[in-house]
Amino acid sequence: MSLLLPDEVIREFEHCNKCGFCLPACPTYQETGLEMHSPRGRLSLVEAAWRGELAPGAGLWQALSWCIGCRACESACPSGVQYGVVLTHARRDLRRQSRRYVIQNRVTVPLLFLVTRRTWLRAALRAGRVVRTLPLPTGLKRTVALLPAEAGAAGPAEPQAPSPTGGVPVYLLGTCVMEAAYPEANRDARWLLAAAGARVLPQDTLEGCCGALHLHTGDYEGALDLARAAVRRFDATLPQESLIVTHAGGCGAMIREYARLLRDDAELASRAAHWASRVHDFATVLTSLPNRLRFRGDGATVALQNSCHLIHGMQEGVQPTALLSTVTGDRFVTLPGQDRCCGSGGVYNLNQPAMAARVLKPHLDEVRQQGVDIWIMNNPGCALQCERGVREAGLSARVMHLSSYLRERLLTVTE
Ligand code: SF4
Ligand code: SF4
Repeated sequence: MSLLLPDEVIREFEHCNKCGFCLPACPTYQETGLEMHSPRGRLSLVEAAWRGELAPGAGLWQALSWCIGCRACESACPSGVQYGVVLTHARRDLRRQSRRYVIQNRVTVPLLFLVTRRTWLRAALRAGRVVRTLPLPTGLKRTVALLPAEAGAAGPAEPQAPSPTGGVPVYLLGTCVMEAAYPEANRDARWLLAAAGARVLPQDTLEGCCGALHLHTGDYEGALDLARAAVRRFDATLPQESLIVTHAGGCGAMIREYARLLRDDAELASRAAHWASRVHDFATVLTSLPNRLRFRGDGATVALQNSCHLIHGMQEGVQPTALLSTVTGDRFVTLPGQDRCCGSGGVYNLNQPAMAARVLKPHLDEVRQQGVDIWIMNNPGCALQCERGVREAGLSARVMHLSSYLRERLLTVTE
């Protein structure tokens, strides 16, 4: 049986001229040196499986399972090959026809269930904190070790934010994992946006999952259902001119994808395109507001771990650095791997823990060598991955979200 792929994937095969410029950008190629674990190799394997020249068996399954989905190859490609489109549809069809692929990804099934039920997700994170103190099998121990120290803690009360002013309404999307694992990061982001003069809309307590994790695992139909529900909810609850702000690169990139994913939906295509064009990262929106916030540090050495989907999916990877450069008093260092994948990859570090740890290792070495005190994140998955890495490597660096770091460093709000 061959892979069944739509025309938009076939077009990407035609765009690839096999030049190999994408290879140095690929973290799994860097780790293995093997063509099958490079973007070019994966494209060739998927194309061969589509042509019926290769059975979609173990080799293809392994090549696609080891792909982190970071999309660094897209930014590196001079021909503009949309590798993410190929990966999405190949995984979708593999999931449909390969029991082995489904079994390999079974560890993510409960997570996909939980992210669509936030109360349950919070409760599961709290339970995970208790369970991880018990003797556990190695695999489960590594999974629960991902939880942050305060995982699932009830969100702190919303502080008294400055009075909203005029201007474009701004809605900070809570997002499932951020809201459950790092509620303070959302609270701080909302507070800073309001302090900078944005008209921050109240949180929608019925906000749903964007579908990003479903798409990662090949549950294409599940992701589409969640995308449709999200577009309907935005239409029902947000003024049309609102900006949707995310502090989770993976979710922001997913909402950008709604325009393409729902373009054939007779009811929602134009609405999906509208909201896809209104989503931006927290750092982008904060830097676009009047420069009213003054930040001062205490001499700490600070580094950034930029989210892959923020860089390659949203093309908004430079604004976090711009924002950090406005903090006086701290020493901001650019790590060589700042814009390279940390191995989180949505659910990748659950499905492929060994490769995820290999990809993270050079980052931890850089943090140690540079004496980093505070390691800044802009995606909850990256924060979970890096926090566990820091703990296990015995490093003293604090892993903080960009919003929480800035809130802590806020000196004054000028008028
Ligand atoms: S995906 Fe792009 S960079 Fe990679 S081999 Fe094909 S054309 Fe070259
Ligand atoms: S998405 Fe990332 S891991 Fe996958 S082929 Fe592209 S660069 Fe490599």
